[in-house]
Amino acid sequence: MTCPKCNAVIKDGSNFCSKCGAKCNTVATNNSKPNEQQQKNEKHGTFIIPLIISIIGGLITYLSVFHDAFGGASGFMAVVGAIILFGGVISLAKALGMSDEEINDAIEKAEERQQKEKDIKEANRIWNDAQRDYDRYNHSIKK
Ligand SMILES: [Zn+2]
Repeated sequence: MTCPKCNAVIKDGSNFCSKCGAKCNTVATNNSKPNEQQQKNEKHGTFIIPLIISIIGGLITYLSVFHDAFGGASGFMAVVGAIILFGGVISLAKALGMSDEEINDAIEKAEERQQKEKDIKEANRIWNDAQRDYDRYNHSIKK
């Protein structure tokens, strides 16, 4: 192995460099491993909470929309659930290391997709109206 300070080749397993006396890596690496583990655990912890929030928000929305679980307040609870879900997903994305820019991009894309779906629905509605008019027209000619 080599000394981390002066790069001199020293005996494997030495605690101190035989040339410069610096502390060597057997101790250093052992110390750095728990830190990495700790950092991972901290990251783990920060993404568990947003995950739980997302699940709760999703569950409230799901129960409101598909099971009418909150009676007359289900419409309101669906919105509340969606807001909780939205906040949870953004926190989750941040906890997983997404930058604000990436999150904004993702939101923009989701909005674009929603707009496209709306456009398609609108086009479908116009198409159906036109077809109904056409049918009515055909019908009136036959009479
Ligand atoms: Zn050394």
